Amino acid sequence: MLKITNLCARFEEKEILKGLNLNIKPGEIHVLLGPNGSGKSTLGRVILGDDKYEVTDGSIVFKGENLEALDPAQRAQKGFFLSFQSPPEIDGVSVRSFLFAAKKSIDPDFTSSFKFKKGLKSTFESLRLPEDFTERETNLGFSGGERKKMEVASLLALDPDLAFLDEIDSGVDIDTIRSIGRAIGNFMTPEKAIILVTHSDKLLQEITPTHVHIFMDGKIIKSGGKEMTAEIQTKGFDSYKPQREGLRVIK
Ligand code: ADP
Ligand code: MG
Repeated sequence: MLKITNLCARFEEKEILKGLNLNIKPGEIHVLLGPNGSGKSTLGRVILGDDKYEVTDGSIVFKGENLEALDPAQRAQKGFFLSFQSPPEIDGVSVRSFLFAAKKSIDPDFTSSFKFKKGLKSTFESLRLPEDFTERETNLGFSGGERKKMEVASLLALDPDLAFLDEIDSGVDIDTIRSIGRAIGNFMTPEKAIILVTHSDKLLQEITPTHVHIFMDGKIIKSGGKEMTAEIQTKGFDSYKPQREGLRVIK
């Protein structure tokens, strides 16, 4: 489904992705674990085609097609979804209108607003969001947990083939993590795939990854199965890189 080969990308003069390889087949759930600032969110942006980042080498092939010439809207139409780490507020646009417009733009055949409203209602119920939430302005005044649920609701509404979920569980309470985990489980089928970036093992108790990767300094340095999450919990990321000097107080 996705084949990334030797991907190198930079933001202005800063090299962020430094030769990344990743292969994903339908039915797989890949977890990226790595320290802050290692380039995980940048990877999501680059797969989406955010033009703030310049791809300097390598290729991204999605469903057999090199994405190079496609803009972000075309990549979304092809079935790629990226959740926002910090979802933007959209004044004056209700959640329902926003999601319906997004749905129609990736699937022009989808025109039934009645069917959409019905689907959204059950999605919101499963995420334990009140029904009138659909009429609120998108992300405006939403709590941290509500924003994350809104991202999950977008995932379920748009129903992509490959979802890159960037810290979709950060800063939310344990019950919310459980409902997010269950919703992602409902989304997943043998035809779909997920890339999950997370810092907490709580979501990983809800979702069992097929692959776990350690992401450091712009590339994947080690890959394994779900047993690797326990290894990282005990060893930490530092053990995978050359030792650095400890923190010192600045005098
Ligand atoms: P992660 O998601 O692993 O924490 P990021 O991909 O967000 O890491 O960032 C990797 C590095 O690239 C960081 O040093 C970050 O500051 C820098 N970076 C990424 N995107 C931008 C941007 N739009 N503007 C400035 N710096 C950026
Ligand atoms: Mg990030």
